[in-house]
Amino acid sequence: MRILRVNLRSERFEDYDVAEDDCRKYLGGRGLAAKILYVENKTKIGPLDPENRLIFMTGPYTGTLGSFTGFYNVTTKGPLTGAILSAHSGGHWGPMFRKTGYDGIIINGRTAKPSYLLITDDGPELRDASDLWGKDVFETIDLLKQRHEKARSAVIGPSGENLTKYAAIMNDHHRAAGRGGVGAVMGSKNLKAVVVHGTKDVPQADPEKLRETFKTATQTVKEKSAAFMKYGTSMVVGITGKAGTIPTRNLQTGYFPDYEKIGGDALVNNHKTRDVACARCPLHCGNETKADKDYTAKTEGPEYETLAMFGSNLGNSNLESIIMANDLCNKYGMDTISCADTIACAFELFEKGIIAEEDTGGLKLEWGDHETIIKLVEMTGRGEGFGKLIGEGSRRLTKKYGGEATKYAMNVKGMEFPGYDPRGIQGMALAFATSTRGACHLRATMYVPELFQGVLDRFTVKGKAQTLKDLQELFTVLDSMILCKFGARNAFANSWDSMVMLTNAATGYGYTVDELKQVGERAWTVERMFNLREGLGRKDDTLPDRFFTLPIHDGPSKGAVVNRQDFDTEISEYYRLWGWNDNGAPSQETLDRLDIRM
Ligand code: SF4
Repeated sequence: MRILRVNLRSERFEDYDVAEDDCRKYLGGRGLAAKILYVENKTKIGPLDPENRLIFMTGPYTGTLGSFTGFYNVTTKGPLTGAILSAHSGGHWGPMFRKTGYDGIIINGRTAKPSYLLITDDGPELRDASDLWGKDVFETIDLLKQRHEKARSAVIGPSGENLTKYAAIMNDHHRAAGRGGVGAVMGSKNLKAVVVHGTKDVPQADPEKLRETFKTATQTVKEKSAAFMKYGTSMVVGITGKAGTIPTRNLQTGYFPDYEKIGGDALVNNHKTRDVACARCPLHCGNETKADKDYTAKTEGPEYETLAMFGSNLGNSNLESIIMANDLCNKYGMDTISCADTIACAFELFEKGIIAEEDTGGLKLEWGDHETIIKLVEMTGRGEGFGKLIGEGSRRLTKKYGGEATKYAMNVKGMEFPGYDPRGIQGMALAFATSTRGACHLRATMYVPELFQGVLDRFTVKGKAQTLKDLQELFTVLDSMILCKFGARNAFANSWDSMVMLTNAATGYGYTVDELKQVGERAWTVERMFNLREGLGRKDDTLPDRFFTLPIHDGPSKGAVVNRQDFDTEISEYYRLWGWNDNGAPSQETLDRLDIRM
């Protein structure tokens, strides 16, 4: 793999060929980026220090003739958590970047004035972005399109410039490397955009095989995934809403009686204007939508997580306001989940009398008041008044008020919860607690066997450690090759045989199933080692107290609460399965077995 090194301080570029051994051991994407970050970042460096590496990475599957090949990865030390942060985005930027002849970019330093990085077949250059600084995501992408007609741009908006702790990197207007603040790291480097245009062939060992898999994937999803093609992730509202495990009013409960008002049918029947797809995707799960009554907006999404967190978790059943909030978050370039959750946290602080109108700039925060929600999103996007504090995330927001306030910060390791109440899907309690980047629903989808398929008891954590580990390994491989997780599930049933076949067709490495599993195990272990070195450990592999002490108090999951003793026992078992000690540190034997040498 060929990586471009960019030193923004000296404005120097260098090519770096990754050793063949590392390509085989870490594959690409999230796995290889974790290894590079571990080796190159100084321990305990500040996330917004110019020397914190910002790594853009593709995988060997990106941009090939297979299906669902549009994703790229961004890895850095996260501003929201201080832990390792990997975020992914679909669309078309990743494949276009690979056509320049590069597979990744390692960025350090900070430019003296706002700049953008342009990479073409002829190589990289830095250009002045002073006139783009202050522009929103849509304006920036459109202006860059005028200058570089055939290029694709990954950009930050005002949130990245303002160092909002959950600022995103955006491409194709609405696609986001959304979580954890990769956009703030880019903003701290004075880097407004990475613009790419290439025409070279993407290396792939067996293009015919990959082309063939595209045909079978297309056939499979046509036969089996009609609902997902129609609704995309919005259909999940109907599942979690019905089961009473959709986050509601800052996760005080899991039941929102009005869930159908913010669900898939309401969105698709009343607001959808067309399907949207990433590169080489026969599933096209994206929805372009519009609002034209209470609000005026045209956007892509909202995805399930946004519907839940700007909807039920704020006691809000006004769907048009959620479409509007989605569009504003994309325009300013910030994560919808952390933005909505931090607003929900502020609403609960207001409800409990910990903050009042003098703290919020005169705003009264009441559940379901969508006009106030939209005002706060605008203020957060612009970094104004109380919005500046919302942009710090729930951990820092509650720390400011101290004492009892910190009980109402719903996050793991500093990153806010997505749309699954862990009391009603208890495998997710373990998945959230052990995820290397904080509360994340994409590191292990325990909600699939527990809720979508109903093959595991969703009201206990007992006996879940092995399934959790298996899923974490699989998803680390998907993020390293890089293959869209919806594509992997719908077209390839998440089968290891399929992943081996696709990876071998892309790389020619001839992996066996066991070898590919070990790639996932190795990369996850390196992420764990990064976090341990930063001072995180078992104390951080937990949940807010609420989930152990406050049962869901209404609806079909009424009474559900996580048993703390069972949780601790299962975490110990999980560590044992990974070959880690009681603080979650890998043993020397584990490092030797995985051939991890740093
Ligand atoms: S399934 Fe959805 S997210 Fe995945 S590649 Fe297709 S459009 Fe993109």
